[in-house]
Amino acid sequence: MSKERLTHTLLKTTFYLLGFQVLLTLSFSVETKRQALSERGAHCQRCGRTPGKGKLFAHHILPQSWGGADILDNLYLSCGACHVILDSQIFSEGILADGRDASNVEMHWPELIDIDKHGVYCRAIKKLTKKRLRNHA
Ligand SMILES: [Zn+2]
Repeated sequence: MSKERLTHTLLKTTFYLLGFQVLLTLSFSVETKRQALSERGAHCQRCGRTPGKGKLFAHHILPQSWGGADILDNLYLSCGACHVILDSQIFSEGILADGRDASNVEMHWPELIDIDKHGVYCRAIKKLTKKRLRNHA
């Protein structure tokens, strides 16, 4: 484990222990973000645009607040405009940045869920399912 990753993990654990994890989300490590940039290039994965430096977002495919893990597979590079659209799409319809359905994550892509936040994921999906049923009624 690199020093950077270790520091990130320690900080995350500390905040979790203090009960601040929701308020002080630390997101992806610099190392993970660098890896995404070098593998995918510095452009938005949704619209393909190359925004200015510092304006490319490391979007969580499965949101952190839904138990999303801080791993490369859960990172989606997006510009500011697409970031807003992607957030709205996931929270209102449960559709992930890449078009997958959030309610299938546990079954098909369990690695996207932070193992410590499995309960958070289950509660989020329960809420989403209720919302969907209401909208179809
Ligand atoms: Zn974009």
